[in-house]
Amino acid sequence: MKLYGILGFPAKHSLSPVMHNAAFKALGIDARYDVFEIPKNELASFIKRVKEEPIYGLSVTAPYKGDVMKHLDKIDEDARKIGAVNTVVNRDGVLIGYNTDFIGATEALKETVGPLKNKKIVIVGAGGASKAIVYGLQKEGAKVSVFNRTKNRDGVDGDLKDMLKTDGNILIQATSVLFSVSPEFIKKFDVVMDIVYKPLITPLLKTAQDLGKKIITGDKMLLYQGIAAFKLWTEKEAPIEVMWKAIST
Ligand code: NAP
Repeated sequence: MKLYGILGFPAKHSLSPVMHNAAFKALGIDARYDVFEIPKNELASFIKRVKEEPIYGLSVTAPYKGDVMKHLDKIDEDARKIGAVNTVVNRDGVLIGYNTDFIGATEALKETVGPLKNKKIVIVGAGGASKAIVYGLQKEGAKVSVFNRTKNRDGVDGDLKDMLKTDGNILIQATSVLFSVSPEFIKKFDVVMDIVYKPLITPLLKTAQDLGKKIITGDKMLLYQGIAAFKLWTEKEAPIEVMWKAIST
């Protein structure tokens, strides 16, 4: 049986095990996806274990998306440009780092919005997830601006007050808190997405929904980044419906 899993600290709350185990089962793949909740001082020895045991693939979550990179043998170009890895593939003892968060975000958006070219997109938050989303959206030809509590960060166009003066087609909430804004601001957008998925309907999405806006919940990004990771690990098409059902029930 091939072993896979999620590396993080904490990681127990993750929906990835239920999603990937359902996918392995549906395709009759003899594999299991576990949780690897690893403290920082054990990261190097855990990566050694991944090579030796072997563990065939990892999802990587906070706080290791950056730290894990120096332990890997190769980094894919997209992950290198984003500066974060959320997926590791073990190919015969060679550990390769990828980023599928940017695919997760763009696929989740395209499912509802269609092509993103020339769409005006406002993102609140400038952390690791936001960086991947910005990268993906720029690749799709969208016009992206980023607003953040802390203004003097790389790639930040303004603070949260500056944001209120803008408008656009799509608003994306990518902070790590349940950040919300006034209905007056939300009114300026057609579609609102929140990448936080606990709770699924965040205060921002609730307000957007009440205003009759199209909303995209954070589990959609989780689904599509998982689908991309599953393909990298197994070189098979992922059973999308099965994976969606696993995380949405
Ligand atoms: P991160 O790197 O720690 O970044 C956190 C961001 O949130 C920063 O921009 C930070 O602003 C902002 N922030 C924190 N507290 C705030 C507050 N009280 N008010 C306003 N802004 C605040 O985190 P991350 O890795 O980007 O992850 C962000 C969230 O996305 C997490 O909840 C994570 O679980 C979720 N996520 C979801 C998916 C998915 O598939 N749905 C994928 C990846 C991540 P400052 O710069 O001012 O500190």
